[in-house]
Amino acid sequence: MSKHVTAPALAADVRELLQRPGAHKHVVLRAPLPGLATPVASVPADAPVTVDAEIESVVEGLLVTGKVGATVVLRCVRCLREVPQDLEVDVRELFAVPGSRSAGLDPGDDKDEGYAVLPDDRLPLDTMARDALVLAFPSFPLCRPDCAGLCPECGADRNTVDCGHGEPGATDPRWAALAGLRREFEEEDVARPEA
Ligand SMILES: [Zn+2]
Ligand SMILES: [Zn+2]
Repeated sequence: MSKHVTAPALAADVRELLQRPGAHKHVVLRAPLPGLATPVASVPADAPVTVDAEIESVVEGLLVTGKVGATVVLRCVRCLREVPQDLEVDVRELFAVPGSRSAGLDPGDDKDEGYAVLPDDRLPLDTMARDALVLAFPSFPLCRPDCAGLCPECGADRNTVDCGHGEPGATDPRWAALAGLRREFEEEDVARPEA
């Protein structure tokens, strides 16, 4: 994913806020941001990402406070089924304004790339939206908390098919041993005096 912001899909005109600390405006922007994907979660390339935020002019630059939202397609790590889920993330980011005090921050700092007002007085919100969404993507999504997963013997989806192979914890001797261990731990927990 490139961090270079060439033609931002989500950009707000902030001309009336520049050099006017205290001035603010509310924006709602909506556009697709292709390339938002991890191995287990993605936003379809043609699906919109929404930024609903208040932009406030402060001495240090422009402060953006609000929410980034999108419908994310999650792939269940147990059964591989794809399930859509609405994701909404709180954001609060300071953007640099060229010529203001914040512009004195190390200009070579890559971290600030995509977090500064453009020369045409527009505020690009793509990088903020991307960073917020990808950080909020779950690492181990499940289609439902008790997903039964795929059968390790025949690959059948145990949520929909009873393939007849052993239930974990019941007949498989490896699981039986684990179940025994768990019972021991639970008994230990009960026996341990309250701290
Ligand atoms: Zn599942
Ligand atoms: Zn099976």
